[in-house]
Amino acid sequence: TANNVKNWIADRIRPEEIEKYLDNGKDFMDHDLIESCLEPKPAPDKAQLQDILDKSLSVTTLLPQETAALLRVEDPDHLALMQETALEVKKKVYDNRIVTFAPLYMSDLCVNNCLYCGFRTDNKNMTRRRLSMDEVAKEVEVLAGQIGHKRLIVVYGEHPKSGVDYIADTISTVYGLKFPTRKGYGSIRRVNVNAAPLQIDELRKLREVGIGTFQVFQETYHRPTYEYVHPKNTLKGNYLWRLYCMHRAMEAGVDDVGIGVLFGLYEWKYEVMALLLHSRELEAKFGIGPHTISFPRIEPAENTPYASKPKRKVDDADFLKLVSILRLSVPHTGMIVTCREGAKLKDKCLEIGCTQTDSSSQIGIGGYSELGNVQESKRQQFMLGDTRSLDEMIHDLAKKGCITSFCTAGYRCGRTGKCIMDMLRSGHEGKFCKLNAVITYREWLDDFASEETLRAGEKVIQEEIQQIKETMPKAYPQFIENYNRTVNGERDIYF
Ligand code: SAM
Ligand code: SF4
Repeated sequence: TANNVKNWIADRIRPEEIEKYLDNGKDFMDHDLIESCLEPKPAPDKAQLQDILDKSLSVTTLLPQETAALLRVEDPDHLALMQETALEVKKKVYDNRIVTFAPLYMSDLCVNNCLYCGFRTDNKNMTRRRLSMDEVAKEVEVLAGQIGHKRLIVVYGEHPKSGVDYIADTISTVYGLKFPTRKGYGSIRRVNVNAAPLQIDELRKLREVGIGTFQVFQETYHRPTYEYVHPKNTLKGNYLWRLYCMHRAMEAGVDDVGIGVLFGLYEWKYEVMALLLHSRELEAKFGIGPHTISFPRIEPAENTPYASKPKRKVDDADFLKLVSILRLSVPHTGMIVTCREGAKLKDKCLEIGCTQTDSSSQIGIGGYSELGNVQESKRQQFMLGDTRSLDEMIHDLAKKGCITSFCTAGYRCGRTGKCIMDMLRSGHEGKFCKLNAVITYREWLDDFASEETLRAGEKVIQEEIQQIKETMPKAYPQFIENYNRTVNGERDIYF
């Protein structure tokens, strides 16, 4: 009933779970520092720029003043140098691997009223529902049994009917499913979560069911804008509750966290500075930066006029610039570009800095099993730009010499949080990831690829195997044994 919802809302926010992290009552998002960094100043000269780029190449998080200097670069040659270096940094940390996943929207019930979102409570045009566990299974059958995904990001509106117990049940359901494929079986091995900010005890529950990354985007770090787009009388209207949700996650032992900004709400340069400050704060307090950074741009949404006319729309050129600046500023972090972007721009982002992307995506509730690849605005949060299938995307990436990784070993071997960040910095994680990427790619090619993609993928795999033989002679014998077992139909073997 309306009263139950009201009571639930009243009890959600725990002021003590904000206050304990404040410094003398002040939050870490230092708006004066950001403003002073962004004051007009001359762009760095070539030597100054090179110093900053060298720091990025040593996989060290930049200082606010250094990121601000990159934001002032306008000279086309200097911009090109920045892009090249961003690519070099990415290669150094992540090699030629692209990790892929799919979103699974579990519920579009929502008590909030975010101006830009099709799920906002005032939007009466939206078909509202949450998936039952049988329906979750039907969606996963398509995702894991037919398309071949191994990683999901599960997504929820904020509502008592999709509270932490529902979230935990849906995740356990997903992990419990297996579907036969051409040569083996398909299953989801890593479930990341995008949901509203949670309380510390609730986050512990999610840790227990084995979540991958916990993702919450601040949307905008600029407080007046935040308060404008998230009405005060709503749960999401509490800026600090959201700002500190990753502190709570870390405290609960969920140490792979994903932060992000919804670009188009406020000045993009301000938001890039704020993402850096957030990353630095997490590093300083917990020894670990964010596992991933996301940078969605606002897309049109059903019956949601604000989404068609965002106040500070970011054009493609600035978008690419912000991608390379983030790659240089937080060199070890994973960076996610989604199907909100069109195929061409998305591929460009993967080239210059991003490490993860989705494909074959459906963001309507029940969409995979009920809609196929049709988009239906009344059922989804916003409209998608890239509607390529996973097979098509893997084919496109293979043509560019990139390997699509379905590796999910990290969190299952305890390589999360600080451990994985240290490995990424030192280049060690790359080794495990390379071996696991090849094995999971082999699984996918044998179980799901079209003939054309199989041919393109085979070429990539042979090159990778050769490289492993030459550069990792010690690991090679065990690797090739695991690889051959995979070729023979065994599944889910990892380092
Ligand atoms: N309800 C939760 C929340 O708000 O954090 C989680 C899920 S929400 C469905 C996921 C993300 O979608 C939001 O954090 C926001 O950044 C993004 N989003 C909302 N409306 C959008 C739009 N019109 N275009 C693109 N992204 C949008
Ligand atoms: Fe609800 Fe999240 Fe959409 Fe806001 S962005 S209306 S909280 S689903």
